[in-house]
Amino acid sequence: MTNEVNLQDIQTLDNGNKLVGGIEFPPRKVWVKTYGCQMNYHDTERILDHLGPLNFTQTDKKEDADFMIFNTCAVRDLANQKFYSHLGESKHQKAKEKQGRDVKIAAGGCIAQTESKELLKKYKQLDFAFGTDVIDNIGEMVYRAYAGDKKFAVTSWDRSDNYSIQTKINHGTPQAFVNIIKGCDKFCSYCIVPFTRGREKSRSTAEIVNDVARLVKYSGIQEVTLLGQNVNSFGKKNGESLAGLIMELEKIDGLELIRYTTSHPYDISDELIEVHGKSKKLANHLHLPVQSGSSTVLQRMLREYSIEHYLERLESIRAANPDIVISSDIIAGFPNETEEEHKETLDLLRKAKFDFIYSYNYSSRPGTKAARMDDVLTKDIRGRRLREIQALQLELQEDVRKEMVGKTYRVLVEGFGMMKGIKKWKGRTSCHRIIHFLPENEQQNLQWQWVDLKVTSATALSCQGEIIKVHGKKIIRQ
Ligand code: SF4
Repeated sequence: MTNEVNLQDIQTLDNGNKLVGGIEFPPRKVWVKTYGCQMNYHDTERILDHLGPLNFTQTDKKEDADFMIFNTCAVRDLANQKFYSHLGESKHQKAKEKQGRDVKIAAGGCIAQTESKELLKKYKQLDFAFGTDVIDNIGEMVYRAYAGDKKFAVTSWDRSDNYSIQTKINHGTPQAFVNIIKGCDKFCSYCIVPFTRGREKSRSTAEIVNDVARLVKYSGIQEVTLLGQNVNSFGKKNGESLAGLIMELEKIDGLELIRYTTSHPYDISDELIEVHGKSKKLANHLHLPVQSGSSTVLQRMLREYSIEHYLERLESIRAANPDIVISSDIIAGFPNETEEEHKETLDLLRKAKFDFIYSYNYSSRPGTKAARMDDVLTKDIRGRRLREIQALQLELQEDVRKEMVGKTYRVLVEGFGMMKGIKKWKGRTSCHRIIHFLPENEQQNLQWQWVDLKVTSATALSCQGEIIKVHGKKIIRQ
């Protein structure tokens, strides 16, 4: 079976079908389940964008799906288990083939990158599997599947030195994720990412600036989040830097807010910290995963920095931008973590004053160095330590958030929800906090508008405000 097809050469037939390489593609529904990080959600957007020309539209109803895609994550065991269970259930949709419905099922992402053969063998309903570096070839793979190729895997790595893409968006909001670097060279001892996403490769600053300018001009984008497994390594191999990129993006008229994630504390440079002080468009928020408050655990994690270094970076960032809000990630119960080391993490929370943390129990990922360590910790110890971390953080968070009361923040309104039976809108601040507020009247539609809000009350988990000024879909500058 040939898999060579020119996807630029798609004809639309009178009956609405698309004709590609001799195969007709009638209108079909694609359902996608995405697990894990923002990189994966962004990959899903790219996948959907590639499927549009092949006559697929997205559905959120599994039972309507002609094509099911699982975009997997290998970072945590919980997401893995969910995926296996959801993939197992997909056999019911595949069984509809017996009633004459053509249903295809594919698995992509990090688990598919490393386990494609096992997945295809174990799950009979799976038609194909694809890795993290080939998502832009999804059109060819779908063509192959509908042309009759069965049970194939595409998991090759892009061996070129360049990383060149154009951002695809299809959600119609003013916010866009923009990949700037892929892969990771760090090899933290607990992490599977370097095995599933390959080595670091950055796009060029010039390409990203053109890409974002195009998104702002033609797609109404006002806020971008620059994405990568370790964005602070951006451009290192090409003599460029994240700091330089941000200052170039800053010049784009109509772009209002720049975020980036995820950062590695070792690679936060002085130059980047300076940009946090002088940039007018860089968000007042930095997610800086620390993972543990103990330098000895950090050594076993192969994180390359000590707690002293981490705290010094926080101090410098806060000195450069006193309004900045810091969040972090914590792993509870890394193999053989002592009670003393755990207490050092509790101490760090008190010193760092994070606005929020994502915290997890350590989960062993096969193939990593940490998975080969003898480990004396039990599930109960890990669970207790995680609960202690989360309880302390909530307590501290309450104090941090209370400082917001009485201050005015500009938000981009993301939607509304019902709170105790009352409709309230919610917007996200530059510092990444969500504020809920009442509209000026019932009919007011504030979706994707910029609004200034004064915070009236704040707890650890919720923040309420009132409207000071509605700017509309563009910011009014005085
Ligand atoms: S920096 Fe460490 S934790 Fe982050 S993706 Fe790379 S190896 Fe994984």
